[in-house]
Amino acid sequence: MAAVGFVGLGNMGGPMAANLVKAGHAVRGFDLAAPALERLGASGGRPGGSIADAVREAEFVVTMLPAGDHVRSAYGSADGILAAAAPGALLVDCSTIDVTTARDVSSLAADAGFEMLDAPVSGGVAGAAGASLTFMVGGSERAFARAEPLLSAMGRTIVRAGEAGAGQAAKICNNMMLGISMIGVCEAFALADRLGLDRQRLFDIASKSSGQCWSLTSYCPVPGPVPTSPANRDYQAGFTAAMMLKDLRLALGAALSADANVPLGAAATELYGLYCADGNAGADFSGIFKFVDGR
Ligand code: NAD
Repeated sequence: MAAVGFVGLGNMGGPMAANLVKAGHAVRGFDLAAPALERLGASGGRPGGSIADAVREAEFVVTMLPAGDHVRSAYGSADGILAAAAPGALLVDCSTIDVTTARDVSSLAADAGFEMLDAPVSGGVAGAAGASLTFMVGGSERAFARAEPLLSAMGRTIVRAGEAGAGQAAKICNNMMLGISMIGVCEAFALADRLGLDRQRLFDIASKSSGQCWSLTSYCPVPGPVPTSPANRDYQAGFTAAMMLKDLRLALGAALSADANVPLGAAATELYGLYCADGNAGADFSGIFKFVDGR
């Protein structure tokens, strides 16, 4: 059992912190939102009055914040984590943020004498609640080995991707593939409709042929073939289009700074931007089928 300071107790962080409590860890947490703190109390954790309060006595500090700026400020501000955490605490940022910020904050942490991991997740709110997340981890092998038992209380698959920033790199590369493949599958179904090809027939054939991919076989964007996919409940999220757009923008920013060519990533970012601006930010990302289909 370890003392854990948990900062950011929202849709993901709340259930993740609750799973740490369930596994026997002593969790002290902080969030700017009072209801999130109340939920931590109800799940058996101890709400703190500030970031410093939550992390001061922790052996592990876990953060699950919206974006890079929040992470920079939570770690680097005068009363933030680097100023308040106990010597020897291991810092684990599970937020999805840009690679540059992840590397910068990790190096600030090292300057302050702390080891740090970037450990973004996939699996969404259901994975956070069910402790079945996948963690993609960047940082030293030693820090990874130390964090692994803790991460196992919140997830099922824990993978070290490489040094600092590699977890974020893996996450955005994966999600760029997902955004592109989802739009590809949507276009194929829209074309099939116009050609008079039955959707189930296309699914049966493509899922056993070279068009096979997760967006088709596990998350099919048209109702029918995959009963659990959001298409069967009018594209209720799931993984929102806004989240997909956020991750695609991170991928595009990383591609620009690394001089990588990602023309399909750029096109996917543009399409998801239009889809979100059209009032669909809160819909599931597979709902882009209706947008691509155009009718
Ligand atoms: P959320 O908005 O529900 O939660 C973020 C929480 O951080 C909020 O409760 C907010 O009050 C708190 N917060 C912000 N600044 C703070 C500060 N300075 N101190 C303390 N608390 C602060 O977001 P979420 O859905 O939980 O996502 C968190 C992260 O996980 C994001 O980076 C997101 O991209 C990533 N993620 C989300 C999902 C998903 O399906 N929701 C899936 C994978 C990854």
